[in-house]
Amino acid sequence: MNLSEMVQAGLDRRSATPEQALEILRSPDEMTMPIVAAAGRLRRRFFANRVRLNYLVNLKSGLCPEDCSYCSQRLGSRADIMTYSWADPAVVDDAVEAGIAGGARRVCLVASGHGPSRRDVDRVSGLVSDLKTRHPDVEVCVCLGFVDDEKAATLHEAGADAYNHNANTSRSHYESICSTHTYQDRMDTVEVLKRNGLSPCSGVIAGMGETDEELVDVIWDLRRHGVDSVPVNFLLPFEGTPLQGQGRELTPQRCLRILSMVRFVHPDAEVRAAAGREMHLRTMQPVALEVVNSIFLGDYLTSEGAAGAKDLDMIRDAGFVPEGQTGATDRAPAEEPTEVPIRHRGIGSQLPVNA
Ligand code: SF4
Repeated sequence: MNLSEMVQAGLDRRSATPEQALEILRSPDEMTMPIVAAAGRLRRRFFANRVRLNYLVNLKSGLCPEDCSYCSQRLGSRADIMTYSWADPAVVDDAVEAGIAGGARRVCLVASGHGPSRRDVDRVSGLVSDLKTRHPDVEVCVCLGFVDDEKAATLHEAGADAYNHNANTSRSHYESICSTHTYQDRMDTVEVLKRNGLSPCSGVIAGMGETDEELVDVIWDLRRHGVDSVPVNFLLPFEGTPLQGQGRELTPQRCLRILSMVRFVHPDAEVRAAAGREMHLRTMQPVALEVVNSIFLGDYLTSEGAAGAKDLDMIRDAGFVPEGQTGATDRAPAEEPTEVPIRHRGIGSQLPVNA
């Protein structure tokens, strides 16, 4: 594996080839840190020291007629989650304000279900335009399932910046995780978003029994579709779903290689460590920040994430800065580290070497 060649390609905004992406996934653990360091050069070039904080607000939970086998909200799920139909707008506003006060720069308004009715789109559009009026600098992403051109255009006109619609897994693996819609349905929706001015956010869930080739395949297909943002979820094997007990191969080292592979295929896109980072990356979460430039703050849809304050400490401790806060910069460091001459001051000197 020629990491320097891959870094050079990435700096020129070219993706690693599928073969190179496979090599990354299949590298031994002792190669993980060199791979992370190489991927980190791309992350720093395009995103400097910034970490985007996203905050999820669950507008509608559970009761979904679809049967995505990883999902605690699916048809027939016995997972122990809260179910409700359309949260009260005052409750949504409180949640949004809490997320923004915690440092979030993007709010993700999410609802379970196949897709929104016309009335649902109007309801969410109202929430979006209120939110944008109060916080014009905060990005709003909506995630409501399948939408057509008219619904996507309405959401965009209301002020939505982005729309999340994950691919989740590859075309060849899709039938084993869902029978109520197809991979093509999802990719068609990504195209609807692009046509209607919504920034497409689409990612994956790793650990659902897919092969390495299938993981590379879906990440590459997302690049072909020109997505702006790639959330990488690691399977949370909820009890009461068909995938309970799966995802054991997701060691922290493998998760870091997966994230690095995604960075090499999407050198200049937002790559987000999403659900499952706490469970699968565990103490390696700060290392993942060398590769990803975006995380969710706090809780996920139906599971608890790390507390927001802990995430902020982790970001600062790892030498990064949340977007929009003092010290966050767009300036990438010089690509070749400048050599700092270390002047010898003799044993016992208390002066810092760079004084
Ligand atoms: S992933 Fe979305 S569409 Fe699939 S079951 Fe869950 S809420 Fe429904």
